[in-house]
Amino acid sequence: MRHHTKKIIFATGNQNKLKEIRAMIQTVTNTVIDIIGLDELGHMEELEESGSTLTENAVQKATFIYNKYGAPVFSEDTGLEVDSLGGAPGVSSARYAGPQKNADDNIDKLLSELQGQTNREAQFRTILAYKTHDKLMTFHGIVRGNILEKRQGQGGFGYDPIFKPDGFSRSFGELPGEVKQRISHRADAFSKFIEYLEAQELT
Ligand code: IMP
Repeated sequence: MRHHTKKIIFATGNQNKLKEIRAMIQTVTNTVIDIIGLDELGHMEELEESGSTLTENAVQKATFIYNKYGAPVFSEDTGLEVDSLGGAPGVSSARYAGPQKNADDNIDKLLSELQGQTNREAQFRTILAYKTHDKLMTFHGIVRGNILEKRQGQGGFGYDPIFKPDGFSRSFGELPGEVKQRISHRADAFSKFIEYLEAQELT
């Protein structure tokens, strides 16, 4: 089959997200996708996320970069939703412990909120927004799991050391990157996006 090369901007300043998405691409077959990060575009300012939902934030970031650079762009917004906290921290996951957006502080706060709590079920949820000259699409990804009592592992980023996905005995901080990149919220949303792109190529 013919290989298509597609260039798409990923509107994120988060190098971990960029690395994960690039690693996922390698498992994609027919479509060769060149992911362009914001640093390659010379865009260094932080993107505004002023929405009250993950979808609003993902759309806001993709639309802002599309309007500035005029090329197909996707963005994503992710939240950790804890059942016993009514879905918190959710859209506020990055600044849960304050505007410094520090992962260690956020984990400390979450562990203290859950002290003595036996229901530790949670999910990571990602909304990926894709913007082109004539389309705005969103794709949804989820992984269910449990919040551990303490940090385990050094891998991944953000809340990974305290999140144990269902069906595994280790945290995202301990599991190999290949596993996270196969089962994660981001992988779920991204694979739906890739399916959509591949279907577009065939029409
Ligand atoms: P945002 O989507 O960049 O706004 O991220 C929201 C918050 O969730 C930040 O604190 C991130 O560090 C965290 N986060 C996003 N994706 C992941 C992930 O894959 N694993 C763990 N934490 C994440």
